[in-house]
Parts: sequence; C-alpha cells; structure tokens
Amino acid sequence: MAKLVKIINMKRIMRLKTGLRIVGGDDEIRIGGVDNSIIKDPLTGLPYIPGSSLKGVLRSSLEIAKGKTKVCDCGECIICRIFGKANNKETEKLRSFTRIIVRDSFLTERSKEILNEVLPFGVEIKKENSIDRVKGVAASPRTFDRVPAGAEFEVNIVLKIFEGDDEKEILDALELAFKLVEHNYIGSSGSRGYGQVEFKKAEFDYFDVKGEVERILG
Ligand SMILES: [Zn+2]
Repeated sequence: MAKLVKIINMKRIMRLKTGLRIVGGDDEIRIGGVDNSIIKDPLTGLPYIPGSSLKGVLRSSLEIAKGKTKVCDCGECIICRIFGKANNKETEKLRSFTRIIVRDSFLTERSKEILNEVLPFGVEIKKENSIDRVKGVAASPRTFDRVPAGAEFEVNIVLKIFEGDDEKEILDALELAFKLVEHNYIGSSGSRGYGQVEFKKAEFDYFDVKGEVERILG
C-alpha cells in the first residue's frame, strides 16, 4: 500500500449567483440528481450542503464531460483515483485510496446574519414555524424553500496525496470539476436560472505527513 505523503486542505467560498431552489420534504431535499441533496440543520433550520452531495456533483460533472453515462468503477482513471471506485463491494477496502474528503458546507457567519435579517421580510418563501403542541416547542424553527442569491457557503475539502501521485494532475482535475459546476447548477430548476454558483479562489494549507511521520516515528 502506498504511503501517505501529504494532506492538502482546501477552503473556498461558494457564492450563489442566483437563488438556490429547494424542493422536497422537510428533512432531505433533492437537488439536481439522485445523490444531490440539501439538508437543513435540525437545530437551526438553516440549509447546508452535505459533503456527499457536493462530492457527487463534482464527480458527475467530470464524468458527464467525459461522456460517461454511469459512475466509473475502473479504479484506475483520475476520477476514480480522486473520488474512489464507485458502486463496488471493494469500495470499503479501497476507501483509504480515495483521495478526497468533502466536508459539509455551511453558510458563512455573514450569510447567516443576512438571512436571519432579510428573510422574514424579503421575497424569499419562508414557511411558518410549526409548533409541536404536545411538546410545546417549535418543531422546525425555519424552513427555507429557497436560499437567496448572494448567500455564501464555505466549502472544505481534504485531499490525500500518496507516494507516486501526481499532485498537479489531481489539483487540476479538481479545479476543472469546480469550473464545470459553475457552468451548470446545483439544486432544482437549473434550466430556469436557479442554482448558479461561483467558487472563489481556493485557499490551501498543507500537512507534511511524510516529514512528520519520519520526525516522530522515525
Ligand atoms: Zn474510473
């Protein structure tokens, strides 16, 4: 098994250029495809984008661009090397070779403040609080049907670089995936203009695993 050499942490802001439309039930809302959902934090009622959802969008944008009609499971190509070998019993075993971890993306603090101020009076649809009469508490404090343009989510991605990996190839492929998502949409009703996003310039920091392992473990 190849040694882990380096961990790259990428942080970047995803800004909604148009409103993000959310359609569906109260717990999980499908966006733009089978795996793509936006979920509300049960404590705050605020929407967030699950890592699995963003990972799916990034992966499928590359696969669609390559003309693939289903998720690749070759385990060899750059898409599989970054995102893992999909839909296979060996996936669990190979998990350590999946190079990407996509964290959940939450609204930035600034966006949370703006949403809290604007939404009750703005044009965005907001469902009424529903009170659980048995417990006497608000069952769901806020329910957003739509997240307004301008809202920003913080995207956090971890990339594992193993011995023999071409770091540039991996970063270039990932950057291309972000670009392709910008030219597509997230959420529903994308063909009617919803869900256009832009990704701001990424910030990186690096953890020199190899160096630290050698220093500490010898
Ligand atoms: Zn593949």
